[in-house]
Amino acid sequence: MNKKQYVVIGLGRFGKSVAETLYDLGNDVLVIDANEDAVQEISNSVTHAVQMDATDESALRTLGLSNFDVAVVTIGSNIQASVMATLLVKELGVKYIIAKGHNDLHAKVLYKIGANRVILPEKDMGIRVAHNLVSSNILDYIELSSNYSIIEIDAPDMWQNKSLKELSLRSKFGINIMALKKEGDVNVSPQANDVVEPGDIIVAIGSTDELNNLETFIA
Ligand code: ADP
Repeated sequence: MNKKQYVVIGLGRFGKSVAETLYDLGNDVLVIDANEDAVQEISNSVTHAVQMDATDESALRTLGLSNFDVAVVTIGSNIQASVMATLLVKELGVKYIIAKGHNDLHAKVLYKIGANRVILPEKDMGIRVAHNLVSSNILDYIELSSNYSIIEIDAPDMWQNKSLKELSLRSKFGINIMALKKEGDVNVSPQANDVVEPGDIIVAIGSTDELNNLETFIA
């Protein structure tokens, strides 16, 4: 895996867990928080920890953020600070910005000012848990928009040892297979002749209605 440079702004429970996990996975992680205790507490578990108001443009400029691949803005409850910090990291040239939203309107604003992806952790987790409860075959469910989602499913028995052509999931369900995961290997452009084997995980994209039909079918 390529080592990347991440900056995580805000050390609430969510930000702390993102920062520590990225660092454990071997990345360079700079964290910023206004609270000195939060910065002290994490200082041995990340590359650099800085106490700073992330809405202070001149202070933020001293950090050379244009060299960072990803900024994760996890200030959630202080919406004004979250919006300002997101805007500033965008202006300072961070390539990819993920921001934590507090509610749908906050998420909309974050997208408008340049966040590449907005996470609503409790809402997203609620959706995933519900889909997993409906069918234990459904491993993950990610809403891309109100109309489209990505689903990750354990290949059901009836699909095993059949090629994608034989299964014809596109004509039956209107979904597209994005990837086939096989024992640690990911085939990201599966072809019609690729065969679904026992233990495979299928990653599919489709409209919410089409994916709902599929879920009912495999439940
Ligand atoms: P969570 O819901 O994940 O606990 P919070 O919204 O409560 O997240 O806050 C996360 C962190 O963001 C807190 O540790 C807080 O100190 C920090 N924070 C809030 N505003 C700023 C700011 N302007 N600059 C830097 N850090 C901030």
